This record gives sequence, C-alpha cells and structure tokens, in this order.
Amino acid sequence: MGELRYDGRVAVITGAGRGLGRSYALLLAARGAKIVVNDLGVGPKGDNSDAGPAEEVVREIKVAGGEAIASTDSVATPEGGAAIIDTAIKHFGRIDILVHNAGNVRRGSLKELSYEDLESVLSTHLRGGFHVVRPAFPLMAAQKYGRIVLTSSINGLYGNANVVNYSMAKAGLIGLSNVAAIEGFSDNVKSNCIIPTAVTRMSEGIDTSKFPPMDPDLVAPVVAWLAHEACSITGEMLISVAGRVARAYSAETAGVFKSSWTIEDIAANIYAIRNTENPWHFAPAPRGHLDHLAKSFEVATKN
Ligand code: NAD
Repeated sequence: MGELRYDGRVAVITGAGRGLGRSYALLLAARGAKIVVNDLGVGPKGDNSDAGPAEEVVREIKVAGGEAIASTDSVATPEGGAAIIDTAIKHFGRIDILVHNAGNVRRGSLKELSYEDLESVLSTHLRGGFHVVRPAFPLMAAQKYGRIVLTSSINGLYGNANVVNYSMAKAGLIGLSNVAAIEGFSDNVKSNCIIPTAVTRMSEGIDTSKFPPMDPDLVAPVVAWLAHEACSITGEMLISVAGRVARAYSAETAGVFKSSWTIEDIAANIYAIRNTENPWHFAPAPRGHLDHLAKSFEVATKN
C-alpha cells in the first residue's frame, strides 16, 4: 500500500496543543494536511488559558515544512466553536477533517460533585463536540466530503468512579457521532469515535510506572486513518490502548419473546433474557435503529 496522505485536506483538531491532539496534528501535517491547531492552553481542570501550547505546535509543524494556524478559541461555547471552524474557512478555504479532542478533568464522587464541575466538563467535551460539529457538518455535507472523529473514552463505555461528569460526556459523544454518521451517510461525511488511552498530563495522580509504553504516538495512526479518505467505516468506535487497536460496538442479547409479561415472568426468565449467546448487533449507520425495530417486530409477528 502506498503512503496515505492528506494533500489538499484541511483539518481542525481541538485541544491540539498538548498530549494526544498534538500527536494527531503533527502526524496529519507531516502527511500534507493543513492544520488548525486549536487549544485554549488551560490547566488540567480547564482553568486559566495560554496561547503558548497552540502556537508551539504550529511552530513545530512549520519547522517540519508543514502548514498550520493556531486557534485559541474555547470549544466550550457556541461562539468559540463557530470561531474555530471559521478559522479553517478564513485561512485555508475549507474543512475536510474535524477531530474533537479537547478535554479537561474534574474529579469528585457522585455524593459530592458540584454543578460547576459538571458544567465545566460537559461544556468542554460534550457540548464542545456539538459546538464544532454543528458549524462544520453543513459545510462537509455541502461539499460531499467530511471526516469527523470524536473522542470518547473507556469511561464513556464502562464508567469509572469519581468522574461522573466525564463519563456522562464521553458516553454522550457516542450519540453525537452516531447521528453525524447517519445524517452524513449519503453525503460521504463519516463520523467515528476514538477511544484512546495514553500517558499524558491527564494521567497525573495515577501511578503509571508499571504501565506498558503508552505514548500518544501509538494512538495517532488510528485517528489519522479515521480522518483519511480511505476510511471505510462510519458510526463506529475504535479503541487504541497500549498498542492494542480494537473495535467497540453495542450489542443486544437475542432476548425472550412473550405476548404479555408479569413481574414474575421477568424474574423467571432473567437468565435467558441476559444470555449473550447469538447476540444481535446493528451498525448505527445508515439505519441501525430501524433494523433494531424491524427485527424485533419480526420476532413479535412470528410468535
Ligand atoms: P491533555 O490535557 O494533554 O490535552 C487536552 C488539551 O485540551 C489541553 O492542551 C487543553 O489546553 C485543551 N483544552 C481544554 N479545554 C479546552 C477548551 N475549552 N477549548 C480548547 N482547548 C481546550 O489531555 P489528553 O490526554 O491529550 O486528552 C485528549 C483527549 O483524549 C481528551 O478528550 C481526553 O478526555 C481524551 N482521553 C484521553 C485518555 C488518556 O488516557 N490520556 C483516555 C481517554 C480519553
């Protein structure tokens, strides 16, 4: 296979001043993409701001011979999201790739998490995704080309103690990606989630001394493939953790059909209801919810 390149493509990457986003930006730029390096330059909790990280990544890209522009708008507001996408249009004339990666973490148990910490994390990750997808999506649909990559997490899939705000946001981004995949299907706009794990400053406070190598550069090729014209999937989730690349997907058990149920019937059938042999899987795009209904109705009408 020849080298996969991005010549002529314009990519917006949020939170690209550090960590995973920086790695994505450097890889796409090295393969010919023009990059909007968006980063507010905040602390791990989302406090303060600094133009330095975005400008430094732009400098690195330019030194290596690539093209990039810094954007220091916040993804956490509708105006900020619009300004980020506008930067791509004003400076490079188009947008082909959108990677929403910006993020912060505010820990606290469900017994004590404040509304301020809930809002901060939802605004950056979840609403942030909407704030950039909303202005970018119509442009991508109109040009019949777009690649969207949203950043979910194992916390979104499985949850984790002391980060309910983060888990809610990361689960919500899966919903946003699925809808972008469904609505973008006929216009060649593909949307997928990356579920990354890497040692970055987000790992501060976690003992990573016994972790296998987990550099952001191990994740970047996965995101880059999802952002490429050759990407053959949409409405999917790819995991990248410590060199293991895999697919996460939703599934249902085949279940049990009865034309009427009592509470006692549920109790009597719970083992069979939960039996994971012969699972059903519906790809979200183009019509996973309709396929789910059709197959369920088929079972109902056959019995
Ligand atoms: P990081 O803290 O190194 O980078 C995040 C960047 O986002 C920072 O540079 C920060 O300034 C920027 N940012 C924060 N709020 C912003 C805002 N409102 N507008 C614009 N930029 C903003 O963290 P990272 O580990 O590289 O994480 C990148 C993404 O990957 C995040 O969405 C994170 O939740 C996700 N993720 C990371 C891991 C991991 O193991 N590191 C695991 C799962 C998911």
